[in-house]
Amino acid sequence: MLPFLRSDLAQLVAYTPHPGGASGHEDSSTTASLAAIDRLDTNESPFDLPPALKQKLAWSYQQELEANRYPDGSHIQLKEAIATYANESAGLTTAPITRDHISIGNGSDELIRSVLIATCLGGEGAILVAQPTFSMYAILAQTLAIPVVKVGRSPDSFETDLTAAQSAMASTHNPAIRAVFVVHPNSPTGNPLTSAELNWLRSLPDHVLVVIDEAYFEFSQTTVAGELTQRPNWIVLRTFSKAFRLAAHRVGYAIAHPELIATLEKVRLPYNLPSTTQAAAAIALAHRQELLSTIPLLLAERQHLTEQLMAIAAFKVWPSAANFIFTQLQGSYGSETTLDSLFQQLKAQGTLLRKINSGFRITIGAPEENRRTLERFKQVLH
Ligand SMILES: *Cc1c(COP(=O)(O)O)cnc(C)c1O
Repeated sequence: MLPFLRSDLAQLVAYTPHPGGASGHEDSSTTASLAAIDRLDTNESPFDLPPALKQKLAWSYQQELEANRYPDGSHIQLKEAIATYANESAGLTTAPITRDHISIGNGSDELIRSVLIATCLGGEGAILVAQPTFSMYAILAQTLAIPVVKVGRSPDSFETDLTAAQSAMASTHNPAIRAVFVVHPNSPTGNPLTSAELNWLRSLPDHVLVVIDEAYFEFSQTTVAGELTQRPNWIVLRTFSKAFRLAAHRVGYAIAHPELIATLEKVRLPYNLPSTTQAAAAIALAHRQELLSTIPLLLAERQHLTEQLMAIAAFKVWPSAANFIFTQLQGSYGSETTLDSLFQQLKAQGTLLRKINSGFRITIGAPEENRRTLERFKQVLH
């Protein structure tokens, strides 16, 4: 190891989302070299932007953007559009969310890192997560040498073990827990926060920040945005990477108390959002009805795939409030070897799944993709 590198980074495993990058073809010996790979491993929308919107974006690049100029580093117009959407989508008729409550990141991943920098860096705090959950919280904390305290969940409902969480809060010192990260609904398990979990979060003291990641809000339609004005120690994170079909452009946003937002703005890079990304997000918001109109189809597909998987004896399937399904193998199928073999066989046929927590997280794809997934499972398990 190079002697100038931080020794704790040697142990860190880098996050590798699509191992194959955009095409999914990382290794033609294990992945079928098919024209269409069904990429059901990263919870993107299966639907690209409609051609007319891509054309608008291309027009904006050609006619409006000056490639030689830095992008707008204040994001004012985009913040206003996001605030309007946040109020509207949470049914907040008095429009309590303003642009001062919004910070925009290069993906919500950037905001997670900004939150960590603003709260815990430099030995000031640890974070709490309930496993299994979105892996970026722990990964980004580790890159900043921030301790991560992990508690478990119920193996049946995946509700956080609140007794363990409460006792971790009380017994973690030097540094104490400064931030609690939850996903609503959770990834990879698909369960929204229960009222017991929400009440526990409400009971946390002012000096603990509660981060509620609503990456799948448009699918679940459950949000705590309406509570934010009463809770200066809560922050909601959202993304354009899932329901808004903009994963390529990297946009996420935070909604929180203006003082917390102002601090996130201090720690971010000045030009974190390329001009094309700002244009894409503005176009997506202006056409939100059209873009989000694919959600009912995806929810119907989720229902169908859930029922069909439940009909296969090998699978235990959990209900999901998001655009993916979590499933584990059960009975005589329930081993890591079988799981791994199934994973490899589906991959060889062109279906990429996420193997996690002794199970699969399966993104809801286009109807064709979901049909192929089912067929391939049935054929391989036969
Ligand atoms: C996909 C996802 C994100 C999105 O991150 P971006 O950086 O905005 O693409 C954030 N949180 C969770 C829980 C996710 O699943």
